[in-house]
Amino acid sequence: MTPKFSLETIPLHSTASNATFEIDVWRYHHPDATKTVYLQAGIHGIELTGIPVVHEFMKEIEAQQLVYNFICVPLSNPMGLDSQIMGVQTGYNNLHTNQQNCWNWNRIGNLKDEPSQEGHWIKTLLDLSAPADIVLDLHTAGVETTPHIYFHESEKEHVTGLGIPHLLSWKVPSDSFSDTNFQRGKVALTFELSSSRSVHGERVKESLIYLRRFFGMLPKVDGSRVWNTEKQLKKWYSPAGGILCWHKDAGDAVREGEVIATLYTRKGSLDLESPYTGVLLLKNPIHAPHERQELAKFLVE
Ligand SMILES: [Zn+2]
Repeated sequence: MTPKFSLETIPLHSTASNATFEIDVWRYHHPDATKTVYLQAGIHGIELTGIPVVHEFMKEIEAQQLVYNFICVPLSNPMGLDSQIMGVQTGYNNLHTNQQNCWNWNRIGNLKDEPSQEGHWIKTLLDLSAPADIVLDLHTAGVETTPHIYFHESEKEHVTGLGIPHLLSWKVPSDSFSDTNFQRGKVALTFELSSSRSVHGERVKESLIYLRRFFGMLPKVDGSRVWNTEKQLKKWYSPAGGILCWHKDAGDAVREGEVIATLYTRKGSLDLESPYTGVLLLKNPIHAPHERQELAKFLVE
């Protein structure tokens, strides 16, 4: 008998109107597999590309009978996904039911033993990923980004050759889902596949190619660059309030002092120079920043 995915639906909680949030878990068991993979998307409700990527990749797993066991959760955060205000996705944090601190959905591995909504949800995901040897958590970043991966410095062999241009190594784990899994002894990677909130067919296709390379369905390629997150990932803040007009795209190389944007303030227009030499990794969603609001992240030479 050829392995096929089986579906389990896990209830999370119900709302005041008794609508129910649930998680679908798709499992695939190959008789010759020696490794189990946990593949997840959508932990941040504004990060959409990974959801169709997991759905599409499950078809390939079955068609090619990949010799791994898989646990797939394409839509890991239904509360986040259903968070929108006037047509704009807002589910990066729990804005709905947490009265005080609006937890970032991907920084609460430490809440797994708390009987709160967030604690129960993250415990559910951590229990689902517990049998896995490899954890791939699919995210997106910024209003515009170039694809990148966050990985522990010991796991470089797993992230090179996939065709993802920027590889961001870290030493000290956060309470993110992947980092929590890394601390449990797994290969655990956070993929940032594309820009947040939007989904484009080309990005879905490209993301599937990254996964095919990861699982040996396609040969590895050259061209990725490794950066040290603690030293080389830098944020950039607006020097004044105004309307921001970019002259660079995410992924572009920049030189310190080069004009990369114009800020239209009440006093006139201001040329904004790149504070760094390196790569513009991602742009934040804001185009009408306040003074000192974060505008972007750079990878710095
Ligand atoms: Zn994310």
